[in-house]
Amino acid sequence: MNLEETYLDMKRKLSRVAPDVELRIKAEYVVEINRLKAEKNAVILGHNYMEPVLYHTVPDFVGDSLFLSRQAAKTDKDIIVFCGVKFMAETAKILNPTKTVLLPAEKAGCSLAASITAEDVRQLKARYPGVPVVTYVNTYADVKAESDICCTSGNAVAVVESFGTDTVIFLPDEYLARNVAKETGKHIIFPSLAGPTDPASASELDFQMVGWRGRCEVHEKFTVQDIRNIRSQYPDVIILAHPECSPEVTDASDMSGSTSEMIKYIERSNAPHYLLLTECAMGDNVAAAHTDKDMLRLCSVRCPHMNMITLEDTLKSLQLMRYVIEVPEDIRIRAAQAVERMIKIG
Ligand code: SF4
Repeated sequence: MNLEETYLDMKRKLSRVAPDVELRIKAEYVVEINRLKAEKNAVILGHNYMEPVLYHTVPDFVGDSLFLSRQAAKTDKDIIVFCGVKFMAETAKILNPTKTVLLPAEKAGCSLAASITAEDVRQLKARYPGVPVVTYVNTYADVKAESDICCTSGNAVAVVESFGTDTVIFLPDEYLARNVAKETGKHIIFPSLAGPTDPASASELDFQMVGWRGRCEVHEKFTVQDIRNIRSQYPDVIILAHPECSPEVTDASDMSGSTSEMIKYIERSNAPHYLLLTECAMGDNVAAAHTDKDMLRLCSVRCPHMNMITLEDTLKSLQLMRYVIEVPEDIRIRAAQAVERMIKIG
């Protein structure tokens, strides 16, 4: 598409969520990104939390981290540009190591991924020998490499149940772990690694899950009071909460699920209003794709990491071939086993 056609296409898709002047300017970036994408034989993957002018324009695939991991694993393009955060781009590299994987913003991290180190996992394994380790995909490659299997928010319960064991270590998101423990009927503990290791006393406790106190800096901020406030103004609203929110918040919501599950729920239902308790950009993206749905937004809480990824940075990424994601091969091989086991479960 030429510049005018691109602008008109963006106007058709995005006029509800972006001002015309922004669409005029961003259309130029879109045209150039698409040209470079074809010239360099690249694929662009866009997470559900990308801003609407990016999400609805340049990605070849959009979705949650599990869906995008699958696309990364099977692409035959030479370059994967990951419009998401660093742990997602690392997962793409883990699954498809011969490709060049680019992350448009070097510092796009994640509070959950930063909450735990590979050494922390090794210490937990020493404290609870033989207990399988389930690690959320929102972790860095060296942490995945210490794990038996990864999970996403969409398959966490299925992954935990796949072991058929009494006890699992589930890292690093405290709230996702509490939500999974609630759903699977397990009692969860959060041990401190600060004190001396005492496996004997630990084994005497009655628990079936061992968690970690990592938090998503976005989802931890939603409160039951937010839900009460919205319901008092919109009594017929349907509230959908991501499982990285606290169990109190997911209990007070109408539905809890991964970003993909939330989108499917909205597509299949017909409520007067919806509110997503997750990154605000996703509400914009659903509103743009479904003009018949009224999406309320709580945009005071944003993910600073996801918000670093813009069309401008995506263009620079392709122009300058930056920022290249590398994973040491010994770590990659072990991390790939954990991710591939998860993908088999679905
Ligand atoms: S929304 Fe939360 S979990 Fe997702 S990248 Fe941002 S900080 Fe990490």
